[in-house]
Amino acid sequence: MSSACYPIECPRCGCPSAMKDTDVWRYAITMCFQCGFFESWELENPLGAFGYRSSGKRAERVDERLYTVKDVESAPSRLLNLIEIGVADPQSMYLTCWNVETNQVEFIVGDSSRLPYRPAEEVEL
Ligand SMILES: [Zn+2]
Repeated sequence: MSSACYPIECPRCGCPSAMKDTDVWRYAITMCFQCGFFESWELENPLGAFGYRSSGKRAERVDERLYTVKDVESAPSRLLNLIEIGVADPQSMYLTCWNVETNQVEFIVGDSSRLPYRPAEEVEL
């Protein structure tokens, strides 16, 4: 298998840490954890994104894209529920929505420091 994953600038919101994932034989996708932008052959662009790091011994990241208004509207209560049942670390949560009028990403929960891939200038070396 020949594949590569590397950061690029998001074509929609300009976040410098969107990810391009390519496999020369099968697919090429671009995804942004800040605004939820997703580009591939099959999927439409989502309205937003959310994610968190799970609590406990196996601290894994969960990141989802939100495709419908209902997905976006239900996301805050889903996040609250994940805190209540102790599944998610509240300090790691973010929820974004793409504003089509201002053409900008809006953080509903958290900020860019909670993204799985932070903008390049914020990454501590
Ligand atoms: Zn973006």
